[in-house]
Amino acid sequence: MTAQIIDGKAISKRLRIGFRERVVKLVSQGVTPGLAVICVGDNPASKVYVGNKIKACEECGVHSFHHGFPDSASEADVLSDIRKLNADHKIHGILVQLPLPPHIDVRKILEAISVDKDVDGFHLYNVGGLVVGNTIFPPCTPYGVQLLLETTGIDVIGKNVVVVGASNIVGKPMALMLLQKEATVTVCHAKTRDLAQHTIIADILIVAAGKPGLIVPQMVKQGAIVIDVGINRLPDGRIVGDVDFEGVKKKASWITPVPGGVGPMTVTMLIENTLRSAERALHLRKEDDYQEWEAPLLKLHQPDIH
Ligand code: NAP
Repeated sequence: MTAQIIDGKAISKRLRIGFRERVVKLVSQGVTPGLAVICVGDNPASKVYVGNKIKACEECGVHSFHHGFPDSASEADVLSDIRKLNADHKIHGILVQLPLPPHIDVRKILEAISVDKDVDGFHLYNVGGLVVGNTIFPPCTPYGVQLLLETTGIDVIGKNVVVVGASNIVGKPMALMLLQKEATVTVCHAKTRDLAQHTIIADILIVAAGKPGLIVPQMVKQGAIVIDVGINRLPDGRIVGDVDFEGVKKKASWITPVPGGVGPMTVTMLIENTLRSAERALHLRKEDDYQEWEAPLLKLHQPDIH
């Protein structure tokens, strides 16, 4: 068996065409969606990620506002900027690029972002919303994975899903979102004993550990669906995931490549959340039009509340 490729780049491209139509509709109603990106310091990887996000905004017609701070910026400087952005009607999404320098309290910064503009989905309100299946903005990477599965026609109900990695931004929200979709979810982390014993039962294996070559074919069930979230730069400069792609693709039924799998979807879902925020802002401005308000992905993919 050779796995079929889940092409995140192509799926993203299709979604972004739809985004442009939504932007045109918003603009015709007097709202240009705006995303503010706050970046502190000179982290080269952050620069690349921020550049990709700004490029995606341009592609979709979303206004982007880059707020760069030097490494020496204080927590108070960043908090003050966030407060101004919270009150700015041109801004529908606020993103703080992580990591932040160690003298800045990440939690404090994330909690300062208005819940209504938290397009990264990292505010405690949105995190808590995941537990009850009622978040406003799902975090972009797991949201992107969920959409990849749905777009590929993969049903998760009742499936054994194993998530390798339990971080706050990928593994944990991913597990909660799939639990909400009625999958049977196992979460593994660095202290998990005998990782293979868990991964081998996975109908759907989602790997987000940041460890190149962690998942080898012997750990994967024949016909499994494998989603590789990892992004690792090897000493020779190559970018690879956490999965031995060449080996595992001979066993899996579907697999995501790195690059070109989950990565483009993360940026795409950031734009989706920003558009949804702008649509929400418009709706809140004219409550009477509630019936007319449509946010297609929200309707389709927002987890049901039990
Ligand atoms: P993170 O915060 O470092 O978390 C890594 C998680 O993996 C932790 O829960 C850790 O366990 C677990 N882990 C580490 N080694 C393991 C092992 N040998 N076996 C099982 N679990 C192990 O990383 P992250 O931010 O979640 O990111 C994970 C990877 O995804 C990275 O490569 C990152 O670059 C990539 N990423 C990609 C995207 C995208 O758009 N494609 C977005 C975000 C992140 P403990 O909790 O026990 O430490």
